[in-house]
Amino acid sequence: AHPTSKPDISREKSAELYEKAKAYFPGGVNSPVRAFKSVYGTPLFIQKGDGCRIWDADGNGFIDFCCSWGPLILGHNHPHVREKVTETMQNGMSFGAPTALENELAELILKHNKYIQKLRFVSSGTEAVMSAIRLARGYTKRDKILKFEGCYHGHVDSLLVKAGSGLVTFGETSSAGVPKSFADETIVVPLNDREALKLAFEEFKDQIAAVIIEPVPANNGLLLQEKEFLKYLREICTVNKALLIFDEVISGFRLGFEGASGFYQIKPDIITYGKIIGGGLPVGAYGSSAEIMSNISPEGSVYQAGTLSGNPVAMSAGIAQLSELAKPGFYEELNAKAAAFANAIQQYATEKGFKLKVFHVGSIFWFAFTDQESIRRADEIDASSMEKFKLFHRELLNRGIYIGPSGYEVGFVSSVHTKDDLEKAKLAIFESLDFVF
Ligand code: PLP
Repeated sequence: AHPTSKPDISREKSAELYEKAKAYFPGGVNSPVRAFKSVYGTPLFIQKGDGCRIWDADGNGFIDFCCSWGPLILGHNHPHVREKVTETMQNGMSFGAPTALENELAELILKHNKYIQKLRFVSSGTEAVMSAIRLARGYTKRDKILKFEGCYHGHVDSLLVKAGSGLVTFGETSSAGVPKSFADETIVVPLNDREALKLAFEEFKDQIAAVIIEPVPANNGLLLQEKEFLKYLREICTVNKALLIFDEVISGFRLGFEGASGFYQIKPDIITYGKIIGGGLPVGAYGSSAEIMSNISPEGSVYQAGTLSGNPVAMSAGIAQLSELAKPGFYEELNAKAAAFANAIQQYATEKGFKLKVFHVGSIFWFAFTDQESIRRADEIDASSMEKFKLFHRELLNRGIYIGPSGYEVGFVSSVHTKDDLEKAKLAIFESLDFVF
């Protein structure tokens, strides 16, 4: 084992639970990254969260920058969310029938978002994306989908594909169990590459139903795109009558109430949401113009349904959380705090001559162990830098800081990380960097 500059935290109980879990679940987890495959030690089993802190089964406490992978923009166990959910639960858990709560959440969203006119609630980001793709295909009567290398859109069959080495390639599947014929309908191009986009639209003229992108790609590091590229993407879709889908499962309600669409002021044709929209409970949504949405069943012929869609308890969590976000000044304060945090770490690293870049936007940040000024494409990431991340992650845990257990994952600052919490976190990060370098 590598040396560490601080004794490892105790993981006895977590290790015990993990052993049991391995008998129940493949790899001992219900979602792969949780297994701590690319960092040190067994996964930590979390017992409790409050504010910006979480505690594991061994009683170790951490300042949390993973925030359940993004949903918890108000931190853990926010009193308004908890109270609203508890109140709703007194009347039952699920009816599979319309409730006023669905209207309430939709009204809140649509009132503050000029980019969509109608939406449909589902139960996860994956479902939102899967449904948006079907809608785009049904609406355009075309089959092909174009995606970007390094963008993750959930575990939808036709989107679990990555690019080969060519400029424009058919996707190869990134998962066993995805038929080649599905992947063949997916075209993959690199991010930040207008030429590749142009070529793809020439080669597959009148065949592309939609282009899907994370406008703020945040699943392969944080691959910040230039506004000019996104504008070009908008234009080329319009010219070719392909729909532009912004997958805002991470950026939605994160960069601002109107997400990346509002941040860049670019109007996509369909937007997908997840994570923050459900306040920590399972909610996803996809939205578009009233005209495009009229193609969804029972109004139109694109079928999409869900037993637990619009679940009242989940809607309540969303209403409570989004009500806070809609308050004036919420994002200004959060984003300023997050920028100051990221900049302070960058400054420390720069002064010390460490090869570290803290890329950030809104309250999303990513530690890249590099001296590249920008990284806009997945293939610009040096995979060997992940060895440094691995050491860094362990040092952070040993100093009470929790971030996602992979160097390709981004971190999140929440509204309840106080100045004091962020000061503590910075010191722990500085010490960890000193050790790593
Ligand atoms: N799209 C994006 C951009 C995501 O980041 C994710 C999940 O991380 C998904 C879709 C899938 O969402 P879910 O995990 O809720 O199915």
